[in-house]
Amino acid sequence: MVQVVLTFDPSLGHMFHNFPLLSFLPCAPVRYVPPPVYRYLSKPDVRADEYGRAVLAPYGIRKVEACLRLRSRLRAEVIHPNHLDRHIRGDTKIIAVNTMDPLGIGPLSLMFNNCGREKSWVRHEFETLMHWIGVLKRERCPGAKVVVGGAGEWEFEIMPEMIEALGIDYVVQGEMDDIIHLLFEGIVEGSIDNTIFLHGYRSTVFDSKGRASIMYVKDPKGHFITRHPFSRFKLPKIEDIPTIVGAAISGQVEIMRGCGLDCDFCEVTTRPLRYYPPEKVLEEVKVNLRAGIKNAWFITDNQWAYMLRDPNYWPNKEAIVNLYRTVMSYDGVTHANPMHATLAPVAADPELPMLISKIVGAGPGKHIGVQIGLETGSDKLVQTHMARKALPFRVGVDATWAEIVVEAKMALNAAYWIPADTIILGMSGETDDDIWDTIGLINYMASQNLLFTVTPMALVSLGSLRGQNALTDVYANLTPAQAALIYISWRNTKRMAEILAWRLGSDTPLLKLLTGGLLVFGANFWLGALERYLKRLNPMTERAIEKAKTYTVIPSKGTDFRKLRQQMRELSLNRALRQGA
Ligand code: SF4
Repeated sequence: MVQVVLTFDPSLGHMFHNFPLLSFLPCAPVRYVPPPVYRYLSKPDVRADEYGRAVLAPYGIRKVEACLRLRSRLRAEVIHPNHLDRHIRGDTKIIAVNTMDPLGIGPLSLMFNNCGREKSWVRHEFETLMHWIGVLKRERCPGAKVVVGGAGEWEFEIMPEMIEALGIDYVVQGEMDDIIHLLFEGIVEGSIDNTIFLHGYRSTVFDSKGRASIMYVKDPKGHFITRHPFSRFKLPKIEDIPTIVGAAISGQVEIMRGCGLDCDFCEVTTRPLRYYPPEKVLEEVKVNLRAGIKNAWFITDNQWAYMLRDPNYWPNKEAIVNLYRTVMSYDGVTHANPMHATLAPVAADPELPMLISKIVGAGPGKHIGVQIGLETGSDKLVQTHMARKALPFRVGVDATWAEIVVEAKMALNAAYWIPADTIILGMSGETDDDIWDTIGLINYMASQNLLFTVTPMALVSLGSLRGQNALTDVYANLTPAQAALIYISWRNTKRMAEILAWRLGSDTPLLKLLTGGLLVFGANFWLGALERYLKRLNPMTERAIEKAKTYTVIPSKGTDFRKLRQQMRELSLNRALRQGA
């Protein structure tokens, strides 16, 4: 008897032949990727055990499972989405679904589907799942409640009409892994504690200077649930967050929450910094190992902030190295890499990625992947929206942002790291000059044969998307320079697909050839179609794209990073001496 059936959006359970570039695929419109091609490229799926339970599951739903196991009398299991019919029964009380991009309007999907004008595969799969849950619920347990949560919950704030259309009772927001048992017990008993939970959601709003503040929006229909701002349960301390009890997809383990860099378009920065000690990280690594996952993928919004002590953001090298050593020295662990990081700390301390690579055993056949918010090539936009992202450097004083980026990329590639960058279009105050700085930076790095992907995103700020009544048309209002930047970004992805398609992935050589061939063909097809589409937008766009193809100019102060690092070290030493005196 399973009272709480926990499951997840099927698109989160695809392994995409372990080709990193293929994880974009669910963002693609259904109309342009035929089902047989999608099904083949998304394979294999995470396995189910003989009872239909997911052997691997998204980290978020594993945290919910852990909290319920530890603190609740409700019996919960994480069920594979393909086996729900075996567990949704007459005694099921709650069906909870973890999702990342349920309506296909995540920052990346909306670039592919132009803000939902096409239906992306990710939405198609979520809707199919919810429809199936609705059928099973109607037939077997009409009184059960359907709960949706995870990183994509905000999309229902944009399209609240989809909540009832998809048969959802509650959309749960925010960190809940210390109190989700109280919510689920309240739902089952029909009395949610209103001193702990608020029927509404927390929204981040940004003022004209980009300062973030939190606002709570009440939901008269009672679908949205968030932690009450005056709840006696404050945001959980690390010791209150339960350790996962079932294995997470790709060996995900959390190492910290928050970031602390205050980029003015980012919600993460409103979350307080908290760090998992290495021993707690290792506990979760062991859970994954028991399911045969030998990789540790560190969940973090910025790895270099791990155990941060220096206000100028020099990374805490000892703590970071200790974390990797602790994990990698455990018997059976073969790889570790972070989910997200920034660039400036690497330019400041290029030894850092190399140290990690040595611990991990990275090399020409074993790269370290990391997602990085590159955002722009423009000094002005960095100074306006994200000055602290460049710490310990001061953009425009010590070096240009482009110089910092290139210096960091060289250090990362030299240590066998391959960054997957994102850039933002449409930041407030952006001009065509800023866009050309970004085009120049991408092309310059490609001309130096640096290995990186770059994905353009419009309106990446979740906060700024919230509360809009009408979705933006991403492409209709592009300036010619913005269109050229989108083209250049995908041209670089095609370059990387051609380099990596034959190197990465875990198939047999024959299947690797097939998957790699499809990937290269798909990248070429997409770029050709995109170029034709963008050039049709207006004649100026055609000219901008042609100019962008060979534009490699980057803002430069001729910075000598070796000298700069030396000066900064001396300054910091003197400061320490003065403080000690
Ligand atoms: S560095 Fe990244 S996670 Fe941190 S505040 Fe900036 S955008 Fe957000």
